[in-house]
Amino acid sequence: MSKKVRVRFAPSPTGGLHIGGVRTVLYNYLFARQHGGDFVLRIEDTDQSRYVPGAEAYIFDTLSWCGLEPDESPRHKGSFGPYRQSERKEIYRRYAEQLVQKGYAYYAFDAPEELEAKRKTAPNFQYNISSRGEMKNSLSLNESHVKKLLSENAPHVIRIKVPSNEEVKFTDMIRGEVSFNTSQVDDKVLLKADGMPTYHLAVVVDDCLMQISHAFRGEEWLPSAPVHILLWKYLFGEENMPQWAHLPLILKPDGNGKLSKRDGERLGFPVFAMDWTDPRTNEKTTGFKERGFLPEAFINMLALIGWNDGTEQEIFSLHELVAKFSIERVHKGGAKFNYEKAKWFNHEWIKRSAVDSYQPLVKNLFTDAGIYIDNETKFSRALELVKDRCTFLTDFVQQASFFFKAPENIDIAVIKPKWDEKKNLFFIELIRAYSLMNSWQHDALEKEFKELAAVNEIKPGDVLLPFRIMLVGGKFGPGVFDIAAMVGKDETIRRIKQALQLL
Ligand code: GLU
Repeated sequence: MSKKVRVRFAPSPTGGLHIGGVRTVLYNYLFARQHGGDFVLRIEDTDQSRYVPGAEAYIFDTLSWCGLEPDESPRHKGSFGPYRQSERKEIYRRYAEQLVQKGYAYYAFDAPEELEAKRKTAPNFQYNISSRGEMKNSLSLNESHVKKLLSENAPHVIRIKVPSNEEVKFTDMIRGEVSFNTSQVDDKVLLKADGMPTYHLAVVVDDCLMQISHAFRGEEWLPSAPVHILLWKYLFGEENMPQWAHLPLILKPDGNGKLSKRDGERLGFPVFAMDWTDPRTNEKTTGFKERGFLPEAFINMLALIGWNDGTEQEIFSLHELVAKFSIERVHKGGAKFNYEKAKWFNHEWIKRSAVDSYQPLVKNLFTDAGIYIDNETKFSRALELVKDRCTFLTDFVQQASFFFKAPENIDIAVIKPKWDEKKNLFFIELIRAYSLMNSWQHDALEKEFKELAAVNEIKPGDVLLPFRIMLVGGKFGPGVFDIAAMVGKDETIRRIKQALQLL
C-alpha cells in the first residue's frame, strides 16, 4: 500500500515570509489537497540565536490571509506533535547518540575559538575526512580520553562522519536523478553544544516521525540534500525517505540571482507576503497584502512563477489550482519575478471578483482615509462602477472617494483656458434644469444635459469634461452621468455651484 500523502512546510521563525516561502507553502498545499493528504506546518526554531519574536505568529497570519490553512501545526494540533522543534529537544539527542553508537557520527570537543583559529590559518578549512584526524574528537582521541571528557561534561557537539568518496543519489520530482560525491560534503554538526539539534538532524528525524511522504522545499536546500540522504540511510533506511522536490528560485527581474528583500526596496515592490516590522531594528518591510493585493491574485501569481498547466490559461482559482497543479510540471530553472505581471493578476482578480468579497477590506481603507461609509448599497454600487479602473485595492480610495465626499481640490486649470460665458450660462441653466428634475436617473440626466447643450448650441463634448471635473475633481472616473446619479441631486448641484465660483 502506498503511503498516505503528508507534506510539510518547515519555516524557521526568523522574519517576514518571502514570496518564495509562500510559493513553497502553496505547492505543498496544492499537492496535499490534490491527493487527499495532510499539510503539516512545522516550526523549525532550533537556532535560538536566529529566533525572532513575532515571526511565528506572522507565518500563521500569512497562511490565513492566503487561505492556505495547515491541517496540523502548533496551533492546529494533530497526532504527530509537538510541531515546534524546540519542544522536541529530547527526541533528537537519542538519534544523535544512536548514530555515534553505530559509528556514523562522533563527538567533537573543539572549542569555538580553536575552530576560529583554524579557519584563520586555513580560510577554506572544512571539518571532514582529511582534517578530522587533526581535530579534537572521538575519532582522533583515545577512548579513555573521550570517556573522561564526556564524564566531565566537557562541551561538545556531535558531527556526522561523512564517508569518503561515495556517491549519494536520489530522484528529485522536478530535477530527476541528482547525485553528489561525499567528498564535497563536510562533517556537519548534528547536535550542538547546547543540546539543540541542527537543522540537518531535526529535519530528517521529524520528516520520519511525522511520516512525511513528500518534501518540497526551495532549491537553496539542495546542497544539504546529501547530508539528509546519508542520515536517512543511517537512521531509518533510504527506502522510507520522502520523495524530494527542490523548487526553483524566484529570481530578480533581470534574472541575476535570487530575488531579495533589498531588490524590492530598490525597485519599489513588495517581496514579503504581508508587512513585517523587525522587532530588533524596527525596520518595516512592505507586504503584498498591505500594498493592496487580493489573496486570490497573490496565490494565482505565485503559482505561475515556475509552473503552468501546459495551456495558455493564466487565471486560476485556488480550487482550479488544486485540480490542475502537478509538481512534475514545475520548471527546473529559476523564474524571474515580474512585478508588472503581478499587478496584472491583481487587476484581473479585482475585475472578476464580486465586489462583496473585498468590500469590507476596501471599507477599512476608506475609514483610514477619513471617509465614513454609511450606505453599504451605495458603497457596493460605487465599487462596481470603478473596479475596472483599479489595480490595487488601495486604488478604490482614489477612484471612488468622490462618491462620498466632495473633492478637496478641483483641477480648474484644465477647464479655465477654454472657459467662456456660453459655458457659464450652460451650467447656470443646468443647475436650474436639474433642480426641477423628479427622477434622478442616469438616462434622464444625460437627456436633459444633451438637450440643454443643443439649445445653447454647445457640443456636449465641450461641457462634459468640465462637468466631470466639477464632480470628481479631475480627469478620471466612470461615466459622468453614473457619477451624478450616484452623488445625488443636491450634492451634484452643490458641486457645480462651488466650481462656478472658482471660474
Ligand atoms: N527550516 C528550513 C527553512 O527555514 C526548512 C527547509 C526544509 O524544508 O527542509 O526553510
